[in-house]
Amino acid sequence: MGENFLVQPKKYKTLMADAGSRSIMDKTIAFFENMGKTRLIEDFNRRVWYREFLDFLKKEQIFSKLLTPKQYAGGDPDCRWDSARNSEYSELLAFYGFGYWYCFQVTILGLGPIWMSDNEVAKKKAARLLKEGAIFAYGLSEKEHGADIYSTETKLAPVGDGTYVANGEKYYIGNGNEAAMVSTFGKMDDGSGDYVFFVTNFEHKQYELKKNVVNHQEYVANFALHDYPITDEDILIRGQKAWDAALNTVNIGKFNIGPASIGLAEHCFYEAITHAANRVLYGKPVTDMPHVQKGFADAWLRLIAMKLYQRRATDYFRLAAADDRRYLLYNPTSKMKVTLQSEQVIALLWNIIAAKGFEKDTYFSIGTSDIWGPSKLEGTVHVNVQLIRKFIENYFFHPKEYPEVEPVLDDRDDNYLFNQGPARGLGKVQFHDYAPIFREFETLPNVERFIEQVNIFKKMLMKAAPDKAQGADPSFSLPVGEMFSIVVYGQLILEQCKLDETDSAVVNQIFDFMVRDFASFGLEIYDIHVTNDVQREYCKRIMLIKPERNDEEYQKVWKEHVYPLNGEYEMTQ
Ligand SMILES: Cc1cc2nc3c(=O)[nH]c(=O)nc-3n(C[C@H](O)[C@H](O)[C@H](O)COP(=O)(O)OP(=O)(O)OC[C@H]3O[C@@H](n4cnc5c(N)ncnc54)[C@H](O)[C@@H]3O)c2cc1C
Repeated sequence: MGENFLVQPKKYKTLMADAGSRSIMDKTIAFFENMGKTRLIEDFNRRVWYREFLDFLKKEQIFSKLLTPKQYAGGDPDCRWDSARNSEYSELLAFYGFGYWYCFQVTILGLGPIWMSDNEVAKKKAARLLKEGAIFAYGLSEKEHGADIYSTETKLAPVGDGTYVANGEKYYIGNGNEAAMVSTFGKMDDGSGDYVFFVTNFEHKQYELKKNVVNHQEYVANFALHDYPITDEDILIRGQKAWDAALNTVNIGKFNIGPASIGLAEHCFYEAITHAANRVLYGKPVTDMPHVQKGFADAWLRLIAMKLYQRRATDYFRLAAADDRRYLLYNPTSKMKVTLQSEQVIALLWNIIAAKGFEKDTYFSIGTSDIWGPSKLEGTVHVNVQLIRKFIENYFFHPKEYPEVEPVLDDRDDNYLFNQGPARGLGKVQFHDYAPIFREFETLPNVERFIEQVNIFKKMLMKAAPDKAQGADPSFSLPVGEMFSIVVYGQLILEQCKLDETDSAVVNQIFDFMVRDFASFGLEIYDIHVTNDVQREYCKRIMLIKPERNDEEYQKVWKEHVYPLNGEYEMTQ
């Protein structure tokens, strides 16, 4: 068997060098494996709130170690805010269930405005509560307003004695049933109209927990504040900075969604291949059928590509600085591309294992219901593609030199994330030239074809750029943005392949599906009614490029990497 690139809890390989981090991963694996698959699935199916998991986190002080910057850690050497470690932990938690991951995810979001604020009292309180095993929440969304946070209705009104009262209702707030600190977003009701973040607590009698909005183990709260008393000590941030903190917090949280989709898909992959390889139809294992092999190989290659992209994007995320904001492109690309790819992976696997995927004692049945969520949260696909579009011009036409970015796996705090500054100015961010890394791999036929597609796309942007009406019409501009995102995706995948010295057969086969995906975007844009004839000509050229057949290489990937995953992992019953 070649190297197993997927998470394998029973032979776990962490990226972390320090004993404290290893211990977090090992203890978490032991917690779930001891719980066992039967109980894990039963709890999911019965929608049981994960009390034992929270007790475990508290006992081991895991959120405290993962989510407290060193400055507030009181000397605990295991504490730091390390995006690589948090990504790894997200993948691991989601491997066992989205509910567990979601509790971590919304705690991260809840802590965002706290660590971003200048409120030292709140920060020290958060650090203490983390040590005591608390979970946190992020109270941004309201029922009627979705992505439109300008329309936030929650109000914070001064009372006249230097204190305030909060009124309003929040919807879709994870952990809102038990969060010790809910970072709540509202507007000042003092004539200024300023945005504001303040802290509330679920135990206060003016905090009405109305219901769980979703039918799941996780608690996604609808809560209301009725004249909830607030003092200056509870106010985190006011004015433009509060608005920026809302968006910058989502930037941080968003980055964990891709890893979660990966973890869920990995567990499903093990179940699917083990089932199919041991199911005999017409006297032969199902995995002997060529189309089944193709489905598995495609799913595996997509999964590996997701991991390669995410790993590389993490380096840029950790090195982000005021003069290097490339993460602002790589982050939404992760969010929309990796999550959508995970949906495709599950779809491919489910087509193969069919009825088995419905069975209530499989993790796969959890996967089939949960995999569709991540692409829609913290900015839908549309919202993220709209963001990504702002970078097209500079990415293709105004590259800039940057020092080489090495893998960042040390124990630094990613402090810049709490100091991202104004959320505007995206169109000014510049990127290193994407072309050289593609050239380094151009001897691989499918990378070469991908480069051809990129070049045609770039030419289309130069010679037949979207006109004003097309630019203003998301039904046109969104597919163009998605086509752009595949270039960024390919670039970072190759950068990571270079660092990892990935088997060239794997790289070339990854670009087999990348060329097919690029071509299908060509068809999509071709078919849009407002596309003009010149643009259609370019689309036609893109969609007629197909990957190169290489049976030997494909068989190598199947035999060395994909098929050996049969029986490789089964969760302890
Ligand atoms: C399970 C779950 C957990 C959640 N957890 C939290 C949480 O802990 N805290 C919190 O604050 N919120 C949370 N949310 C809210 C979540 O962030 C929103 O659901 C999400 O941002 C999308 O909002 P919406 O579903 O209301 O869609 P809408 O905003 O109503 O969007 C409707 C449509 O309009 C499109 N659209 C909207 N704006 C744009 C735009 N600018 N450009 C292009 N298209 C656009 C969308 O893509 C979508 O297709 C949660 C939601 C769920 C379901």
